[in-house]
Amino acid sequence: MKIVVPIKQVPETNNVKMDPVTGTMVRDGVEPIINPLDLYAIEEGVLLKERIGGEVRALSMGPKKAILAIKEAIAMGCDDGILLSDRAFAGADTWATSYVLSQAIKKIGDYDLIICGERATDGDTGQVGPGIATWLDIPFATYINKIVEIRENSLVVERMVEDGYEILEIETPCLLTVVKEINYPRLPSLRRKQLARQIEIPVWGPADIEADTKNLGLKGSPTRVVKISTPQVTRNGKLLTPKNENEIEAAVDQLIEFLQGKEII
Ligand SMILES: Cc1cc2nc3c(=O)[nH]c(=O)nc-3n(C[C@H](O)[C@H](O)[C@H](O)COP(=O)(O)OP(=O)(O)OC[C@H]3O[C@@H](n4cnc5c(N)ncnc54)[C@H](O)[C@@H]3O)c2cc1C
Repeated sequence: MKIVVPIKQVPETNNVKMDPVTGTMVRDGVEPIINPLDLYAIEEGVLLKERIGGEVRALSMGPKKAILAIKEAIAMGCDDGILLSDRAFAGADTWATSYVLSQAIKKIGDYDLIICGERATDGDTGQVGPGIATWLDIPFATYINKIVEIRENSLVVERMVEDGYEILEIETPCLLTVVKEINYPRLPSLRRKQLARQIEIPVWGPADIEADTKNLGLKGSPTRVVKISTPQVTRNGKLLTPKNENEIEAAVDQLIEFLQGKEII
């Protein structure tokens, strides 16, 4: 099975800062890592290869330092990887990002399965996976927590939903986005780390993927960030400070009345 795993390099922080003028993320001075949820996508690709054979290729759109993310993916078991890096790609929204990734996958050509993370911890939209599948006009399924069966021209998968799970059969080639319940990502071995260091990672630009330049980067992104702000939390609460046992009971009664008034209980 030929598998492509799109991986995103993200800042290693939960404290992501936004540029209030451009509305884009401030990445300078923040250590980059593989999007933690993409480790599960890599692991699933490698597990499938170990189960039925084939090859797994990591693909990332980002700055030159995203080569490190691809090398880490190879150290985890991917066979090789491709970096999509060019000034023309910068500032892409999910629409333009998924366009570039889909053009690269078209160029790769021969694939059966694309596995994405559920979402990236910085952009956090979960749109890129379905976006890639839409550009490629292939079926996709999101929130997959188990690949149940591999059939000749399809996969049977388990999809997490709020109150349980669904079992779906999906024709290949297809795209899955996976959740962290699907597996336990392995740590790269020393041998594979050494191997990854020796592997040359090709860097592709717009011409390599025959991209329509009007779909690229900030200019090609239909999303407009109108305003960035931190939501204000307004609490018109009332503080109850009982001083003895009787007052505690009265305070509990008041609390119950308050919650009933709001139809919370
Ligand atoms: C106007 C504008 C400008 C922006 N400029 C930038 C920018 O310069 N740099 C930037 O990083 N973000 C930028 N963004 C945010 C951008 O939309 C997202 O970072 C990017 O498109 C991915 O979306 P996401 O993070 O929500 O990924 P999600 O959709 O949450 O990611 C889901 C999965 O898709 C795959 N994936 C996502 N992104 C990539 C990628 N780049 N390469 C390979 N696989 C990927 C991974 O498998 C990931 O787990 C910008 C957004 C807007 C609106």
